Amino acid sequence: MGRADLHTHTSASDGELTAKELLDKVKSKGLSTLSITDHDTIDGYIDALDKSEKMGIELIPGVELSTIWKNREVHLLAYGFDPESASLRNLLLRQKRARKLRMREIVHVLNKKGLEVDYDEITAYARGANIGRPHAAAVLIKKGYAANVADAFIRYLSMDEILKINTEYTDIESAVRIVKESGGVLSVAHPGPLYSTDELKEMILAGIDGIECIHPSHNFNVQKVFTEMAKSMNLLITGGSDFHGSPKSDYDPYLGVVTLGTQHVEALKRTCNNRKALLKD
Ligand code: AMP
Ligand code: ZN
Ligand code: FE
Ligand code: FE
Repeated sequence: MGRADLHTHTSASDGELTAKELLDKVKSKGLSTLSITDHDTIDGYIDALDKSEKMGIELIPGVELSTIWKNREVHLLAYGFDPESASLRNLLLRQKRARKLRMREIVHVLNKKGLEVDYDEITAYARGANIGRPHAAAVLIKKGYAANVADAFIRYLSMDEILKINTEYTDIESAVRIVKESGGVLSVAHPGPLYSTDELKEMILAGIDGIECIHPSHNFNVQKVFTEMAKSMNLLITGGSDFHGSPKSDYDPYLGVVTLGTQHVEALKRTCNNRKALLKD
């Protein structure tokens, strides 16, 4: 039985490697199945389609959606959807716009603190990628305001004023509806210590299909608790390394280490196939 990684990022969002470079790295780790789950974009997935087929790596459509649930930001992993779905493409366009608006607000907060950064230099650094705080971190480092990415996050990018910015991210209910109508499934990303058990259960009742039980931030016991919860609620079990390809990121050693058994991928694909069959009825 092969191993899968259903949580990775590329330079289409805040990862360092292009999708094609990521495929080489995944191959070198001996993984058979990959999902590129960039933040609110499938550009990296599309970029990897041809090469993954040639390399014999199974590529599962994926995306990590930033959503709002009860005034909180919740990351949902969507898988197995039809990448051509117009409603999904529209959702991703709205998310991209929401990220740009939020970055303008972040720059405003940083400027008020006396930091001389501007929106255009951050977008220039992102080179067409879906914009996120790691791109702002890179500019803060370049300008000498922070020592490294972790420092930029601790010092500035996790300030209350930034975390409290109202975003235009989709609500969970809309994300669930659109992904399911596109024949896909949803899993709560890296729940770790982020939510109480009751909150997680309530969130799942909004129509979520799975839990990301396996993630670098989950130790063995945490992984077991989420796996048992998923089994008892008849949910899909997902997992992956959250690889960002940066030597500076804490999660990067985990590619090929934090992996998912492909039996869970088979279950996920079965659910998607059933959903797609129902949509045709
Ligand atoms: P954003 O999508 O703009 O909210 O940025 C979130 C991303 O920033 C995450 O996916 C991580 O890649 C990265 N990130 C979050 N917290 C940290 C941290 N403390 N150190 C380094 N990277 C982080
Ligand atoms: Zn990220
Ligand atoms: Fe995330
Ligand atoms: Fe992620």
